[in-house]
Amino acid sequence: MSHRIVCQFSCGAASAVATKMTLAQYSATHDVQIINAFIKNEHPDNRRFLTDCEQWLAREITVLRDTKYGADTVQVFRRVQFMKGPYGAPCTRILKRKLLATWEKRGDVLVLGYTVEEEDRFDDFVERNPDRPVIAPLIEAGLGKEDCKAMVLRASIRLPYMYELGYDNANCIGCVKGGEGYWRAIREDFPVEFEELAQVQEEIGPDAYLHRNRKTNERFSLRELGDGPVRRNEKMPSCSFFCEIAEQVYSA
Ligand code: SF4
Repeated sequence: MSHRIVCQFSCGAASAVATKMTLAQYSATHDVQIINAFIKNEHPDNRRFLTDCEQWLAREITVLRDTKYGADTVQVFRRVQFMKGPYGAPCTRILKRKLLATWEKRGDVLVLGYTVEEEDRFDDFVERNPDRPVIAPLIEAGLGKEDCKAMVLRASIRLPYMYELGYDNANCIGCVKGGEGYWRAIREDFPVEFEELAQVQEEIGPDAYLHRNRKTNERFSLRELGDGPVRRNEKMPSCSFFCEIAEQVYSA
């Protein structure tokens, strides 16, 4: 019996196109599954995008949802008492990676939505995970992030609202992987979410700080984030089931 092929749908354009291509190539010969992890802190429009893509793909997407933390990154931060560590973010590890582990089967072939811009990251991933069968259809087809967005739009699907605002992906509102410019944008566009995360940092203290002063190398809080460039389009990896593992590649 052939192994399952598992597409991880992250509510981003690249993962949508990677899934579409995988179905076209393998659905006649393999059991192709599509999974998504529900995260409370993503923009609600991500769910609209998922539903639209189900129609485009003509397939249902299996939505996995953490119950221990209410699928809520803020609850995770309060529990683990940090927001980002040297080996990645605890939110994606707990709310995505651990969830996938409860569902996956030995031999599953994972479809990763890396684009051509991310070929190095894919190569590193393969090198570090030699026993994990993976495919990257976007790289095979030479497709970049902008290609994927255009393909989604050509399918008459509106991109997730976060893209429409100018963000680089449809990650959580206030993704811990973002830099200063990104967080200034979140402060402007989503003051409620920004305030909640600033409060969590105040509760936890410096272990939860995300940024460092470039001159002194001291960490500082969101509350201390000064004025400066606002960067909605700051490049940041989409949050997949594997971004925590992928992050280890460049954090190590
Ligand atoms: S998008 Fe960012 S904040 Fe949300 S789970 Fe992924 S790493 Fe954490």
